[in-house]
Amino acid sequence: MTVANGWDHVGVVGAGLMGAEIALLAAGPERRVTLVDIDDGALARGIEHARRAGARLVERGRWTDAELAARLEAITPSTDVAEFAGCALVVEAVPERLDLKKGVLANIAGVVGEGAVVATNTSGLSITELASAAADPARFVGLHFFNPATAMRLVEVILGERTDAGVAEAAAAFARDLEKTPILVRECPGFVVNRILVRAVVAGILAAHEGRVDPAQADADVVAAGPTPMGPHALADLVGIDTLESVRSDLERAYPGRYPDAGILAQLLAAGRLGRKSGGGFFHERPGEVPGDPAGAAAPAYYGAAADEARRIVEEEIASTGDTDTGMMLGAGWSAGPSSLKEQA
Ligand code: NAD
Repeated sequence: MTVANGWDHVGVVGAGLMGAEIALLAAGPERRVTLVDIDDGALARGIEHARRAGARLVERGRWTDAELAARLEAITPSTDVAEFAGCALVVEAVPERLDLKKGVLANIAGVVGEGAVVATNTSGLSITELASAAADPARFVGLHFFNPATAMRLVEVILGERTDAGVAEAAAAFARDLEKTPILVRECPGFVVNRILVRAVVAGILAAHEGRVDPAQADADVVAAGPTPMGPHALADLVGIDTLESVRSDLERAYPGRYPDAGILAQLLAAGRLGRKSGGGFFHERPGEVPGDPAGAAAPAYYGAAADEARRIVEEEIASTGDTDTGMMLGAGWSAGPSSLKEQA
């Protein structure tokens, strides 16, 4: 299937954290963007978010003031998806609810032309399931930007069961045009980065807990022993115990026995300790009187789990070794990819 490149009119639906920054990255003198949300207030907040995210890039010298102004100028806010008529690409970035996304995708299907590509920024819903609401499932693809989209270089391009390979390539070319690094991922729960990272984080937390190793000590061990910039407890506190537990339990259902945590996260949740957002989390935990083993099991558990999951991803032909490595380096900040861990696994 051939896909027209040089997409000069792109639609983005959902002007929240992700959609606003994706719109800003896509917009410019050569490409106008129609940004749709439910009301003028949400659109105004989205444009303001984009302006602030762009200002940070200007501060860092990546863009000039004039470039940011031209990008903002090229974004047309609207509350009507009918404005997507004529768009060759529409990116969906509404909240992570299957019914909501399917409704929005069905509305878009009634508007865009036959040749248009529709992409979703879902973090974890099934591309194949979402594609059932699209006009043409072959022209439906995942474009998983990471938060914050203006700063994170990785984009996971996810192929659902019916996504055309040419459409995925065109989506990857679009990501490159936005100065991102795309990796190609055949759909699976967790895609590549979350599947590996959450498994490692949960394994590290469980091993530290069982070994009665202090969380800070366990994190220091993990960081010292391999390529991750942040230990599992610190990352859990940063993303939020509620978010991590939701992803962990989904992945444990999808891959039984690979994401066990002995109920540790649920206990923190029940105590209202959600991590940084609530001021609690792991660093209010004290493991008890028995001193931990400073050379405890957290690091081998963490990297062993990551290496095993990465090996499965490559064996199942979900992603290539190179793309799996790129995913962990650009999506999780690792200094080297999981293929470098083979000997430790
Ligand atoms: P958000 O809540 O910040 O923004 C969602 C926006 O969608 C809101 O402005 C809301 O008003 C709008 N919206 C709701 N219903 C709508 C409708 N029917 N039509 C048009 N607009 C509608 O959410 P977000 O964090 O930007 O997440 C959006 C998507 O991106 C989700 O699928 C999420 O899983 C995914 N994602 C989020 C992150 C992250 O860290 N926040 C990272 C990667 C991917």
